[in-house]
Amino acid sequence: MAGQEGRGGIPDLKHLPTGATRLLLEPELGHPVRIPVHLLRGERPGPRLLITAGVHGAEYASIAAANQLARLDPSQLSGTLAVLPVVNPPSFFARSIYLNPVDGQNLNRMFPGDPSGSFASRLAHWLGGWMSQADAYLDLHGGDLIEQLTPFALYPAGQPASAELAGAFGLPWMLADSGTTMSVAAASRLGLPAVLAEAGGNGLWPEAAVSALYQGTLRVMAKLGMWSGPALAVPTPPRQLSSFAWLRAEAAGFWHPAVQAGDQVEKGQTIGYLTDLLGEPVSQALSPEAGVVLFIVTSLAMNANDPLVGIGTGSR
Ligand SMILES: [Zn+2]
Repeated sequence: MAGQEGRGGIPDLKHLPTGATRLLLEPELGHPVRIPVHLLRGERPGPRLLITAGVHGAEYASIAAANQLARLDPSQLSGTLAVLPVVNPPSFFARSIYLNPVDGQNLNRMFPGDPSGSFASRLAHWLGGWMSQADAYLDLHGGDLIEQLTPFALYPAGQPASAELAGAFGLPWMLADSGTTMSVAAASRLGLPAVLAEAGGNGLWPEAAVSALYQGTLRVMAKLGMWSGPALAVPTPPRQLSSFAWLRAEAAGFWHPAVQAGDQVEKGQTIGYLTDLLGEPVSQALSPEAGVVLFIVTSLAMNANDPLVGIGTGSR
C-alpha cells in the first residue's frame, strides 16, 4: 500500500489485490476519526469509481445505499470501486444537521480544502487525495434530518461528461450547478466526471430512497463499463432543470411549510410562513421562481438565514 501516512494514508488504487479490502482509516485531521473504506477490485480491468456518502452525517439513505454498494460481488466488476460510506464520522455520530460538530463547518462548502485548515477543511483535502486517484466520482446525499426532498442529481455546470452520468443515474430531476466549494466541483476541477445524487430525508432511509441511490449507482457503473450484472432500465428519463433557487429565513421563529417536496409551484406562490416565538406573523415565504420543490425544510424551529426551500427552475 504505497502512499501511506500513518494509519490514514490513502491506498494506491492502481495496485490493489482483486476482491474486497475493508479498512478503517485514521487520517491525521486534528481530531480523531475512523473512516470506513471498502475497496472492490474486479479481475477485469476498468475504471476506478470513487463513491462517498455521509458528507452530511444524518443523510441516512445515502449511507445505507453506500453500505449496500460496498457488498457488491467484486467478481461482477470490471475495474475498481472505492466506497466510503461515512466520510464525516463526527457528524454521523452527533446526528448533526448541515454542519459537523468539530469546527461548525459544512463539509460540502469546504472543497478543495486545506491540509493546514480546520477539521472540515482538512477532511475535504484528504478526500481530494481519493479523487485524484479516481476516474469518476459519485457523492451520495440523502436529504438532511430536517429536509423533505424529491430525488435529484446535481452535477457541475458546463461538464458534459458529468451531465451524461447524471442522466444515467436516472433520478427524476437533474440540475447543473455552478458552485465551486462542493465535492463534485473539486472533482470536476481534477478532470473527473462527478455527480451529487440526493434521495431520502427527514432522518429516514426508506427502501425506495436507498434503492434509488443504489440502482442509480449501478446504472452509472454500467455506463462506465464496470458492471456486468443484469441490465438496469432507466424508469423515465430525468427532466433537466436549469437553476436551483434557494429561499432563506428572514428571521428566527416557528416555520410553517405549506408545500411538499415534488410540488410544482408558481412564482410568488406561498411556500410557507414564519411566526415569532409569540406566534405573531413575521413573514410569508414566496417562491422566487416557478418550478419544482426539490427540498423543503420541515422543522418547526427556524434560524435566521437558514434555508427554507430549494426550487428547481427552468424544467424542460
Ligand atoms: Zn447533503
